[in-house]
Amino acid sequence: MRGVSSSAPDRSFTLHPRSTVSDLRVRIAPSPTGTVHLGLCRTALFNWAYARGRGGTFVLRVEDTDRTRSTAESEQAIHEGLRWLGIDWDEGPDVGGPHVPYRQSERIEGHVQRAQALLDAGLAYRCFCTPERLTQVREAQEKRKETPRYDRHCEGLSREESDRRAALPVAGEPFVLRFRVPEGATVFEDMVRGEVRFDHAEIDDWIMVRRDGTPTYNFVVVSDDVDMGISHVFRGEEHLVNTPKQILLYEALGETPPRFGHLPLMLGTDRKKLSKRTGDTALGDYVAKGYPRDAVVNFLCLQGWALDGETDVFDLDTFVKHFDIVDVQKAGAVFDPEKFRWLAGDTIRRMSVPDLADAVAPFVIDEGLMTADDVAARREWFERLVAGEQERIELFGDFPPRVRPFFEADDAVTYEEKAEKNARKHEDRAAILADFDAWLQGPGWSDDVEALGAAMKDWVKERGIKFPILFQPLRCALTGMAGGRDLADCVLLLGPESAGARIRAGIERLA
Ligand code: GLU
Repeated sequence: MRGVSSSAPDRSFTLHPRSTVSDLRVRIAPSPTGTVHLGLCRTALFNWAYARGRGGTFVLRVEDTDRTRSTAESEQAIHEGLRWLGIDWDEGPDVGGPHVPYRQSERIEGHVQRAQALLDAGLAYRCFCTPERLTQVREAQEKRKETPRYDRHCEGLSREESDRRAALPVAGEPFVLRFRVPEGATVFEDMVRGEVRFDHAEIDDWIMVRRDGTPTYNFVVVSDDVDMGISHVFRGEEHLVNTPKQILLYEALGETPPRFGHLPLMLGTDRKKLSKRTGDTALGDYVAKGYPRDAVVNFLCLQGWALDGETDVFDLDTFVKHFDIVDVQKAGAVFDPEKFRWLAGDTIRRMSVPDLADAVAPFVIDEGLMTADDVAARREWFERLVAGEQERIELFGDFPPRVRPFFEADDAVTYEEKAEKNARKHEDRAAILADFDAWLQGPGWSDDVEALGAAMKDWVKERGIKFPILFQPLRCALTGMAGGRDLADCVLLLGPESAGARIRAGIERLA
């Protein structure tokens, strides 16, 4: 048997108490080398939902073996991003509770032992070829229009010679450790794509351990997945080419490979792999713009999966209940930014006003319109401010610019060009505004928005004029905007004093 499992390292690792006895174990293995990409978020959601729907275990393992590119900030961003999405993970080293993920860099020893075992079993070999030689080989192959691959120059070295060169003269000749790919083909049943076949002639004797002693992704990922008893590997389609290499490694280690499922690429509107070219790809960009969490989750669920082909709007519980990897589509999932915005707006419209107020408050504070204390002290007023925009915004970030006028000085409201143009169409504007102000400061005022709105309409009707003759100059004076929320609501939000001061300033400014 091609296997070295007897010499595999210690498999023990700490199980968090929340783990179940189920054999179903999935994981994500993100590299902490940048921002949190939406592709990772989708992979995480699909794995997590698969585990949660079946009583399985979901593991987070940070692939930080690329020490030069990995950063602590990026790792932190992954934790925060997953938590923001509502994704929790089950296990980790026993150093502070459930939320410490595994770190690959802390597991190197076991990997090195495994590499040694494969070398001893003749399933891997040392390659002493210099980078210069490998470049020459590649260039010659390219010239002959052949697929570049290692020419197996060191494959036939005897173990004695290999040991001798590795030990000489003092520290030995530098070498990499290559996996010996046997002849034949690897065929596996991908849970998304169906039967997948790779001829071994297409697979290089790939490098397991680099010259500097660091193990490569394909080697480490299998080593870790074996140690952690991972039963299903769901990841992006870009990893499909790695899968035969990994399956061969499982076999060499005498281990049963997990089931694989490769998720379709997320494509931009240009039908190419989603990238910065056609839109934001980082979760943080969407959070910063104020896409509600439920909309982000909902949208990501739709990237390659559908509930019933009709229902676009559903929550995370529904997803967990219905998600199955075998229902994921093979074809690339086109990322539709308009649909994403629509989903965001739809989510906002379904929120309660207090929840929406809580959600937009940080955006208002960030813009410097209010302090957190202001928001708390004027909660009722703030909720009224929010309620009037609920139907009009798609993102939390749309809110501050729409309510900016309510925070300007009464004599310095910014007039939009269109608002001012509309106001100036009406010759009698000064007289009408003055009249209206007098009425508002006296008999017209009401604290009830419905009553105030009805009274304002009656006021116009009694004068036998058309609504815009009052409403356009009034709107310009109060908010400087050409459109927007209900005017009676604007008057109420401002209160009689501020509304009056704005009307009087408007009479002068629009003269
Ligand atoms: N670090 C790899 C990635 O982020 C993990 C791939 C895998 O799941 O095997 O793409």
